Amino acid sequence: MKDKYLVVGAGITGCVIAENIASQLGKEVLLIDSRRHVGGNCRDYRSFEGILVHEFGPHIFHTNNGDVWNYLSRFTDWTMYFHRVLANIEGMEIPVPFNLNSIYMAFPAELAGKLENALIEKFGYGTKIPILEMRKTESPLLKFLADYVYRNVFLGYTVKQWGVKPEEIDESVSGRIPVYISRDDRYFQDKYQAIPRLGYSKMIENMLKNDKIEVRLGCDFREISDPNNYKMVIYTGKIDEYFGGKYGELPYRSLRFETEYLNTRQFQPVAQMNYPSNFDFTRITEFKHFLPQNTAGTIIAKEYSMPHVAGKNTPFYPIINPENMSIYEKYRSEALQLKNVIFAGRLAEYKYYNMDQAVASALDKFSLIAGRV
Ligand SMILES: Cc1cc2nc3c(=O)[nH]c(=O)nc-3n(C[C@H](O)[C@H](O)[C@H](O)COP(=O)(O)OP(=O)(O)OC[C@H]3O[C@@H](n4cnc5c(N)ncnc54)[C@H](O)[C@@H]3O)c2cc1C
Repeated sequence: MKDKYLVVGAGITGCVIAENIASQLGKEVLLIDSRRHVGGNCRDYRSFEGILVHEFGPHIFHTNNGDVWNYLSRFTDWTMYFHRVLANIEGMEIPVPFNLNSIYMAFPAELAGKLENALIEKFGYGTKIPILEMRKTESPLLKFLADYVYRNVFLGYTVKQWGVKPEEIDESVSGRIPVYISRDDRYFQDKYQAIPRLGYSKMIENMLKNDKIEVRLGCDFREISDPNNYKMVIYTGKIDEYFGGKYGELPYRSLRFETEYLNTRQFQPVAQMNYPSNFDFTRITEFKHFLPQNTAGTIIAKEYSMPHVAGKNTPFYPIINPENMSIYEKYRSEALQLKNVIFAGRLAEYKYYNMDQAVASALDKFSLIAGRV
């Protein structure tokens, strides 16, 4: 037993680490997850018509990291996909992040021209300016634009998403919503942008096709009677839960998805439509845009944001602010004392990781594990 590794959590982080332990070190791994599926929040499944549905919200793979791209490409083929998002603003469907195309859709041509010139003069073409920074400018034109975007794109969405005022949100989160001074209306500009051709779940299942990996689903870490019997534990669950919440609970936002089948070929022109001001949901995703799928019907999911309540709903987004980070730091310094436990992934590192960042970090963690063998 002492030669075997225990990986807690079969999300993308846990699966990458388990795959590497098995294939690179040739060691046995027990991979457990309290949920009844592998893939964690990246999970997708096929509807009766064959539409791939992302169970936990739209997942678009995008990265500039060639190593991560090459690593995952061993387990999947890809379909190229450039994400485009529209926001329903004052009844118009306008591209976001707000860019030069959006300006020409939202305002009369003469005003739009002036705004374009002012933006390029002040910030330069091709730059991304966070909305809170634009609001601070002196130019009345730019201030008008910043206020418009702030009010119509950012404010309502952020209040719904985080349940707080934008000023209370960490800069690293609010900085994610920029004005892009460009005609490029893709949501991401990364070098690699794609969806696994047969889905994320299939990609992850391919990673786990190794005789040395035993997968046990519906199994919580608390059911493992003696973790000390394993050579090492790689823990990708909530770090506060691991330590019994002794320094306080780390808060998260959770989500509820209302998924519907509609008897129509297409519901909306793009995969993602944001609703900053109207309705209680933040966005609607239509899944058949991700992969070419010629079906008579379509599937959409309305997404509602709410506080996470342990044991009741799923923790999705860590709430990064100084108070929560100081709680996290207490857990982290205790975690560093544990020689045979590695904490990895979104929940264990209390960090907003995209999939590529989660994979990159998992590969780094594996190097650490390999170095300790
Ligand atoms: C709505 C939404 C949209 C997203 N969109 C994108 C996107 O477009 N592009 C992108 O790159 N990234 C996106 N992400 C981020 C992506 O989901 C994460 O990067 C990724 O899921 C992180 O993987 P992880 O393994 O670290 O965590 P998780 O997927 O959360 O996996 C952790 C696993 O551990 C299990 N676990 C926890 N505690 C225990 C325990 N005690 N015992 C056993 N098992 C346990 C959990 O059940 C879970 O399955 C999105 C995230 C969300 C929430």
